Amino acid sequence: MQSCVKVLIDGSSSDLSFSYLIPDGMEVAPGSRVLVPLRGREAVGTVMAVEEVDTSVLSYNMKPVRKVVGSQPFLTPDLLKLAEWISGYYMCSIESVYRTMLPKPARGKEDKSKKAKQVRLPAGVLKDSAAGERIPKTAKKQVEAFEVLREAGEGGFLLSEMTGVKGFGRSTISGLEDKGLVEVVDVVVSRDPTGGQTFVASQPLTPNPEQQVVLDKIKKVSGKNLEKAPKPILLYGVTGSGKTEVYLQSIQHVLEQGMGAIVLVPEIALTPQTANRFKQRFADIQDQVAILHSSLSEGERHDEWKKILNRKARIVIGARSAIFSPIENLGLIVVDEEHENSYKQDTNPRYQARDLAVVRGVLEKCPVVLGSATPSLESWKNVESGKYDLAEMLLRVDDRKLPLIRIIDMKLETRKQGGGLTILSSKLREAIEARLADGEQTILFLNRRGFSRSMLCPQCGYVANCRHCASTMTLHQHDDKLVCHICGFSQLPPRKCPECGAKDIVNSGFGTERVESVLKEFFKGARVARIDTDTMRKKNALRDTLDAFRAKKIDIIIGTQMIAKGLHFPNVTLVGMLNADVGLHIPDIRAGERTFQLLTQVAGRAGRGELEGEVVVQTFTPHHPAIQFGRHHDFIGFAEQELALRKMFGHPPYVHMTLITARSKHQERAEFSLKTLHLRLARDLPEEIVMTEPLPSPLVKSHDQWRFQVVMKAVNPRKIATHIRTVMKDMTFPEDVIVTFDMDCYQMS
Ligand code: ADP
Ligand code: ZN
Repeated sequence: MQSCVKVLIDGSSSDLSFSYLIPDGMEVAPGSRVLVPLRGREAVGTVMAVEEVDTSVLSYNMKPVRKVVGSQPFLTPDLLKLAEWISGYYMCSIESVYRTMLPKPARGKEDKSKKAKQVRLPAGVLKDSAAGERIPKTAKKQVEAFEVLREAGEGGFLLSEMTGVKGFGRSTISGLEDKGLVEVVDVVVSRDPTGGQTFVASQPLTPNPEQQVVLDKIKKVSGKNLEKAPKPILLYGVTGSGKTEVYLQSIQHVLEQGMGAIVLVPEIALTPQTANRFKQRFADIQDQVAILHSSLSEGERHDEWKKILNRKARIVIGARSAIFSPIENLGLIVVDEEHENSYKQDTNPRYQARDLAVVRGVLEKCPVVLGSATPSLESWKNVESGKYDLAEMLLRVDDRKLPLIRIIDMKLETRKQGGGLTILSSKLREAIEARLADGEQTILFLNRRGFSRSMLCPQCGYVANCRHCASTMTLHQHDDKLVCHICGFSQLPPRKCPECGAKDIVNSGFGTERVESVLKEFFKGARVARIDTDTMRKKNALRDTLDAFRAKKIDIIIGTQMIAKGLHFPNVTLVGMLNADVGLHIPDIRAGERTFQLLTQVAGRAGRGELEGEVVVQTFTPHHPAIQFGRHHDFIGFAEQELALRKMFGHPPYVHMTLITARSKHQERAEFSLKTLHLRLARDLPEEIVMTEPLPSPLVKSHDQWRFQVVMKAVNPRKIATHIRTVMKDMTFPEDVIVTFDMDCYQMS
């Protein structure tokens, strides 16, 4: 019997592995990255498993592994298991998951750690107090260098430091080396994304009674080697209730037990401010905190990851992909703002990091805390069904009241202002004027979700909804149809408003630029800045604008929801939301939920300082539940009503929804491929699965690609995945057609 490894070659689209022998003395384990011969070339791959084989019965000559990359496996056994789970659930290849789990520089043939030469005294010399006497007194430089290194202890100095700032010649070091008094070795150095910044340690705050209850609950299960995973805890805590402080103290506890922790935050919220809060609390063990976000250079990202792999870092703060951090001995996973859509990856593999946190928690028997002021309905339903534990913090730490939210009915405004496109209501105009007079600041939000046209009557607020789904229908102008993208129902668009008879009922909307010019017209001399993807293209543009705003050099900021999160401006006393409806009228079952979340977040931006805040929300549908419950800061009321609706229509979270899309440059080929696939899927369709007819996507053409789609729903997601896999086994598509499967899709585009 001989040991061999099963290797999944990089880039392979099937999950088929190849076997290679392990040469004597080579250390490999599952998760190791290896170089192997493959059809006359050399390939890189990941070891999936190590097995025993009887080579004498093999009909072929099994080749040996050539080399192991790096000094240890890059993926932990638990991550290998997680990869398999992801591949099964999200219908993607295992290799694509491995690829996502590893930072790019770690995927090559070489270990990409930045190496440097280090000079130090060998252990024996360090212990021998008489060792220095072996240097002749005349070699003054050598005596000096030796003393410097002895002082430095076992860490020594980098060679570059000795020959640089310390001013020793290379020959001096070599002289000592020849005498066996120093050694020069290769070490891995890391590129520190915080640039060697030092942090002043922040002290834990004394928890208030609400925080104490939650902390006790988390500490009871975290930082322990448990028999089985405890229930995930949903921490429902209003904005400013001190959730972050709870996370910090829970992590502290986990570290004291010798275990590690992962904290996920939405990319957009992962500002230096957030990162520094963690760095500060753990300032005395700063090296043990790794920060992973998308603006790191590849090298920095790799080094942070390497720090985790080498068990130097025990805490990881990061966006979505940080869920793949190779932390062993996990004592806690925290997902902050768990409702955020950015946890879902919209390219292959289309995983949802919050859900993976829960899966990883089960695999590693580790508690998971999901925190939010507006929990996702998925999580809320799991609390109701007893799958998750609920922890609540309903009071703000500073006892400040939540701001007053005023709802403006834009139908009335439009009539009042004589029809046409109305951007600012008179109420909002007055409110801005008052702020300008008092030297206080204003933030205006423009909701820019929704690429497609919905039918919305500006006179009466009528919206064309699907009679089967209560979801907004999309206008497809090229074939003049109103289509529901949830169920496929379609109808002719009305020529005039069915409610009030008005003629122009297509909602074309307006952008930030338009708002900016209107503001400049109304408020002469006001300093206005615009934050959107156009103006923020330049590096540091966002930071510079926000700095200027903080320094009160700007009176009004107008922006998209990219500025709705995590910003603190004590002088902002007015927040306006110009078009709360836009997010409501998109073909998306979560439209109401998202609008509610946005309202809550936006309201959280007002009155963060000593001054009280006011929020003005303009809408054509003032009675929509998302707006009414949002106005009263009533999450629980909203969740109850919305969940009842979802249940009635058979929408998530009561079912799992999968979006199947075929796209191609050629319209007919995309459409034909999808129709063929649909036919095959319809044959032997398990009873539990509900499937739509093939439809053009809401965004039927994008980036020169035509797109067609089918939606599947089932209570058990495995049924969908299994059926699709079975059908796909013997399907082939033209080369230019790309077919994607999006399990638990968030966007219907
Ligand atoms: P959340 O994450 O729920 O929005 P934070 O954790 O950011 O809330 O807390 C809001 C503010 O209250 C922060 O400035 C924080 O330092 C402060 N804070 C949190 N907990 C306490 C406490 N127990 N005592 C005093 N201040 C606290
Ligand atoms: Zn419908």
